[in-house]
Amino acid sequence: MKNFKQKTTMAVIAFLVGFSSILSAQGYPFELPKLPYAYNALEPVVDAATMEIHYSKHHAAYVKNLNTALKGSKYEAYSLDELMLHAGEAGDALRNNAGGHYNHSLFWNILSLNNPFNAQSEVGKEVIRTFGSLDSLKQLLNKAGATRFGSGWAWLYVTTGKKLAVCSSPNQDNPIMDVSPVRGIPILCIDVWEHAYYLKYQNKRSDYLAAILNAINWDAVNKNYTEALVSPLLKKIEKGGK
Ligand code: MN
Repeated sequence: MKNFKQKTTMAVIAFLVGFSSILSAQGYPFELPKLPYAYNALEPVVDAATMEIHYSKHHAAYVKNLNTALKGSKYEAYSLDELMLHAGEAGDALRNNAGGHYNHSLFWNILSLNNPFNAQSEVGKEVIRTFGSLDSLKQLLNKAGATRFGSGWAWLYVTTGKKLAVCSSPNQDNPIMDVSPVRGIPILCIDVWEHAYYLKYQNKRSDYLAAILNAINWDAVNKNYTEALVSPLLKKIEKGGK
């Protein structure tokens, strides 16, 4: 276990360098992060009732179950990043709940109605270079989400070669995990579990995808992108190390 002083120092550093690092530096016991906006902030794309249930019930349950699964195990000393890197050996309870906590924390952070795509930003330029246009990227993310059978996520992530790529994952897996067939650091994610859209969109996942891809906080994605490029975690993933 890290002592209090180390933990406090890590928390202060994390606060200074930003959200992604806050996630990375988190440790047991994990806490539900504050939602960065009101439940109705993304109306009409995400209705307030869905947001409230999703955050205060689903995400909260992942955090609670993660702490329960960690208690008394050797993984208590692991950061959230380390739990991802060891997801395969850590077992389903830790894999699912650590993933659930990480994925939802990122998801809340990259949604907004007020931070549109900027082709001149670092990530904007790379999106154009890689995919040709924002619309092409949206089509790929829509397809990734629409074709993910059952529950899971669609991702825009930075590969170990520092390129942008799109993929999807089942359940609460993500590209940081050792069990993922493609690896890298996610910078944008879309939850395609039914609980993310069913109240408003019913069975129409593609309508939800089309709508939510217009509610991305591209300033946050740009920050995630520039941080991912220089993250020690990317090096760790590249070396296949844990
Ligand atoms: Mn969810």
